[in-house]
Amino acid sequence: MAEKVVIIGSGPAGWSAAIYASRANLSPFLFEGAFTEENRLIGLQPLGQLALTTEVENYPGFPTGNLEAYLDDSIDENKRKYMSPHLQEGVSGPELMELMRQQSLNFGTRLVTDDVVDIDLSKHPFQLKTLAGQEVEALAVIVATGARANYIGLESEDRFKNNGVSACAVCDGALPRFRNNPLVVVGGGDSAMEESTFLTKFASKVYIVHRRDKFRASKIMTERALSNEKIDVKWNSVIDEVLGNDDQGVTGVRIRSTVDESRTEELETTGYFSAIGHTPNTGFLNGQLDMNEKGYITWTKPMRTNTSVEGVFAAGDVADDYYRQAITAAGTGCMAALDAERWLAAKGLE
Ligand code: NAP
Repeated sequence: MAEKVVIIGSGPAGWSAAIYASRANLSPFLFEGAFTEENRLIGLQPLGQLALTTEVENYPGFPTGNLEAYLDDSIDENKRKYMSPHLQEGVSGPELMELMRQQSLNFGTRLVTDDVVDIDLSKHPFQLKTLAGQEVEALAVIVATGARANYIGLESEDRFKNNGVSACAVCDGALPRFRNNPLVVVGGGDSAMEESTFLTKFASKVYIVHRRDKFRASKIMTERALSNEKIDVKWNSVIDEVLGNDDQGVTGVRIRSTVDESRTEELETTGYFSAIGHTPNTGFLNGQLDMNEKGYITWTKPMRTNTSVEGVFAAGDVADDYYRQAITAAGTGCMAALDAERWLAAKGLE
């Protein structure tokens, strides 16, 4: 028998869709991805990008630090005394994902720890196949497979991920290790401009390392970055090696000139931020959904999560190359579950 709703992906979009679909008694079936070495190396592990971060300080409802002290400080005493005590610290990315996962299980989500490697959207019910060979039919599908940050691909980059190497300044920039220290951002697009400008709030200095002598970023963002006194650009340069040790994590980078390959320079830094673009995880779709020129799934109706195939909905970073935040992914995951529920009801398939 075909499943009513199959959700593919296990980041905030997937879990939020699962929580809403399970509470609507749709008994969703969720593929959370497979724990393979190949997935680990390309950043495609279950629980998504948040599983690669540390503290999450910008997800509403989870302020950093001792939540009880925060509640005591910020809520009027007369209101506070009627609230039960709460003893929780702030939340990390992996914890937030585990909590969302458990929350969706509590409401009856059925979980498979495997990748969907093949999908046929040309017939209804849709046909899905996993890495382990399991075949599943679905009346509605929610694609929430996210996007993975691009890294240059150095072994030393991989070694220091979560210990000074990051691809998200907005997520990680305020962490203690990045404060009052020089930081390095690699890339020359809008992300590199935005991340480096953002990091100047915390860093003593930010180097942008770019492989050419011209940015591809928009004029306004380029000007904003270049006029910031804390930003110094290393033009015509690439990262040759990320330097560090197991105790301190990243301590520096060695850069190499692209015009004279014999020229190298070491920059002292506690953080290295990759801002060389993202890749949406859409390979398994084999082009069966409309995508934009950057390969992200296109939402076909304003403020809805419908895709170009009726009954298939998309949520989170796989369809969003603009906001790319946990909270926006969770929001569109909720929307996708509601859209799927209403679509099934309208078709008499509920
Ligand atoms: P992007 O525009 O594709 O830029 C990627 C940058 O990384 C390019 O400068 C590229 O160099 C460099 N790069 C790529 N591979 C590299 C490698 N292996 N080694 C060294 N450098 C490498 O990506 P993005 O900056 O993430 O922007 C993506 C989209 O999001 C854009 O459309 C952008 O406008 C948008 N965005 C908008 C905002 C905003 O408006 N607030 C903020 C962020 C992003 P080359 O230039 O030499 O190719």
